[in-house]
Amino acid sequence: MKVVHSPHHIGHNPPKEFISNHVEAYGESPERAELILEALMDTPDAEITRAEHFDLRHFYKIHAPSYLEYLQTAYEEWVAAGLWPEGIMPEFFALGHMRDRPPSRSPEGKAGFYMTDSCTMIVKGTWEAIRFSGFTALTGAKHLLRGERFVFSLCRPPGHHAGYDYAGGYCFVNNAGLAAKFLQDQGELDDTGSIKVAILDLDFHHGNGTQDVVQHLENILLVSIHGDPDYSYPYLTGFTSENTTKNINYPLPPGTNDNDYFLIFREAIASIRQFGAKYLVVSLGVDTFEMDQLGNFRLSSGIYGLLSGYLINELPVPVLIVMEGGYNIEFLAKNVVSFLTPFLVQMKSIKQK
Ligand SMILES: [Zn+2]
Repeated sequence: MKVVHSPHHIGHNPPKEFISNHVEAYGESPERAELILEALMDTPDAEITRAEHFDLRHFYKIHAPSYLEYLQTAYEEWVAAGLWPEGIMPEFFALGHMRDRPPSRSPEGKAGFYMTDSCTMIVKGTWEAIRFSGFTALTGAKHLLRGERFVFSLCRPPGHHAGYDYAGGYCFVNNAGLAAKFLQDQGELDDTGSIKVAILDLDFHHGNGTQDVVQHLENILLVSIHGDPDYSYPYLTGFTSENTTKNINYPLPPGTNDNDYFLIFREAIASIRQFGAKYLVVSLGVDTFEMDQLGNFRLSSGIYGLLSGYLINELPVPVLIVMEGGYNIEFLAKNVVSFLTPFLVQMKSIKQK
């Protein structure tokens, strides 16, 4: 099974974030991706490959041009204006009608316009890392189109909180949306003349960015299982009342255990099967783990392999897994490998035939 990664993520290494009324070390650290990569290097049947280059036009299919231009120039503009070279952290936010008109020309104004929180700092190497994180997702999608059945894209920074024209929650470009759109555009048309792609978001936090991105696209369904926003980030989205023909939310309460989760997971898989997806993109976050500091579920390490094993049996379509969250450094790689193991085993048996 191919595992796609890029070393460029290392340049995105913000020193800090503002969370829950205090400043602390940036939780979405380069160490996360390195630990997962190291574990996969030691895993038989994981074939490690580098991300290829792609034209940025793919990014423009899912994000607003003004937002992508901001991401590319934000840091230089910020520093040229004499602001802190350490990085960009907004100090206020554009609410309601303030988003109906373009932002002011000031770097502070743009930061408040294009960012939704103060835990998503932009530093000198951020754009390069974002670009290659997107390329990592696109390379994975390309491998699927070349005939691979399952591929893992070790994206960093993650992407599912990045919306059509905003960053947030450690995310800048929506990697899952990028891959889904690429699969739809480049895949072979079926009898209906369109290609349906589903995104299954398993990160603990609601994929508010992906939900926003899919509203601008056709025939891409997002199904998200996440912590109830009455208790968890991003607090304002992820309710069932937001469900449309383009997204289905399954918010779950604090303390959700393996059994509760598995029941809902089966429902989510059934809804994807009913939709008739030709490809599946999984946004994999393992911050649903019982000891993750950013989640409040009680899932054990053992559940991840059961979930992916069930998915393989019930959904016979090519699957791209893209990395999202997971912050317990001690268990992160173990839980990711646990989820990937049924895919690795299946790929090995396909290749032996
Ligand atoms: Zn998360």
